[in-house]
Amino acid sequence: MKRPTILVLGAGYGGLSTVVNLQKSLGTDEADIVLINKNEYHYESTWLHEAAAGTLSPEQVRYDIKDVIDVGKVEFVQAKVQAIDIQEKVVTTNVGTHTYDYLVIALGFEGETFGIPGLDKYSLSIANVNAARQIREHIEYQFATWSIEEEKDDSRLTIVVGGAGFTGIEFLGELGNRVPELCEEFDVPREKVRVICVEAAPMVLPGFDPELVDYAVRQLKAKGIEFSIGTPVVEATPEGVNVKKGEDEFEFIKAGTVVWAAGVRGNRLIEETGIENMRARVKVESDLRAPGLDDVFIVGDCALMIDEETNRPYPPTAQIAMQQGEMCANNVIALIKGNPTSEFTPDLKGAIASLGDDDAIGVAFGKKLTGKKASFMKKMVDNRALYMIGGLGLTIKKGKFNLLK
Ligand code: FAD
Ligand code: NAD
Repeated sequence: MKRPTILVLGAGYGGLSTVVNLQKSLGTDEADIVLINKNEYHYESTWLHEAAAGTLSPEQVRYDIKDVIDVGKVEFVQAKVQAIDIQEKVVTTNVGTHTYDYLVIALGFEGETFGIPGLDKYSLSIANVNAARQIREHIEYQFATWSIEEEKDDSRLTIVVGGAGFTGIEFLGELGNRVPELCEEFDVPREKVRVICVEAAPMVLPGFDPELVDYAVRQLKAKGIEFSIGTPVVEATPEGVNVKKGEDEFEFIKAGTVVWAAGVRGNRLIEETGIENMRARVKVESDLRAPGLDDVFIVGDCALMIDEETNRPYPPTAQIAMQQGEMCANNVIALIKGNPTSEFTPDLKGAIASLGDDDAIGVAFGKKLTGKKASFMKKMVDNRALYMIGGLGLTIKKGKFNLLK
């Protein structure tokens, strides 16, 4: 009998977790495993805010996919997926086509701009490793230009961060540490620099523990970060952003850098598959298959699952993507072996937001943490993700060992 082909799209947390679990359990005589990703490297999306602020090098954030897959068992194809035909079971990429018996879609997230005018064009997004590098270099360029221009335009030194969710807050934490370094490097007085977070909801980190939120805001304000809360960004222009302050009241913030961190959606390729979706996220069955499709699994940020307790979708996180990858691998193997699939239930261990590499807030195993303890825990979580995918070798090579900072 022909060996089935398992085609995995995307080598983020969901895709790589699927592949490393498949390669552990399947022999070369049992299936052909093919992994397609647009880069030859994986990047730790959860560290991108550090690369964007310039507190961590982009090289440290990424690693070669071939370092963690068993090339004797998995064929890696570096290509950009362009279309997924679920009727014909064909995936088209920029370098060719692939057929499959089982498809795993793990194409991850994109920044969501909600159709707000100008944002696509005039804001930057912490979307991938090169986008993060662009943000770092853009900010450095603004500082360098200010320092040499005759007639100084102070708005070059204003950085607006749209959204005070986890991404916005973590990025602000890094900026809080990075701005003094930039000031020193480019001879810029600190008081000339403004970092302003604009949040639409009435609070920072909406829905998170208020005591921890208060701590985070205090710490960030102490590092000179300003907050504009309950004031949605309604437009971006080449000069900055327009913010709604009241019924008919608007404020224009002139800024040399606008970073949009106000939410994510799934990969837009999902919207062209014909599979029912909400902002490119598919409400998957309990075994992670797309509704009505026996041979298509969706994991990570392209998948949507409802938390029965809150009746709201689980937030798209790396934590869940990796757990889904493991379950997806088990379920694909079950189908190949003619066994029943299992239900996926996330095992949520908590949530921690860093506030720079020396501070954090979070809840882990039901306990609230702040400061160095939380920061220690965040680095352990980051290292654990490396360990789960690439074992001790990868953890030693890429891990965070300034644990007590
Ligand atoms: P991704 O990690 O987005 O991976 C998708 C992969 O698909 C990428 O390799 C991409 O290059 C590839 N790809 C995309 N399009 C194509 C294409 N057309 N062709 C080929 N390949 C393609 N979650 C946590 O749990 N904890 C955290 O601390 C945390 N911190 C975060 C910090 C930041 C700054 C951000 C932005 C997110 C953070 N998250 C965190 C959320 C987490 O990063 C995502 O939930 C997670 O990355 C989703 O994993 P994924 O595998 O679905 O997708
Ligand atoms: P998010 O949806 O969690 O937060 C986006 C924020 O932007 C919200 O507070 C929202 O009110 C605000 N917003 C929306 N429209 C706005 C507007 N027009 N103007 C101003 N503000 C606006 O998105 P995120 O922070 O990008 O996070 C995405 C996912 O990644 C989440 O699931 C999050 O939990 C996860 N994540 C986790 C971590 C962590 O665990 N440390 C870190 C980063 C991201």
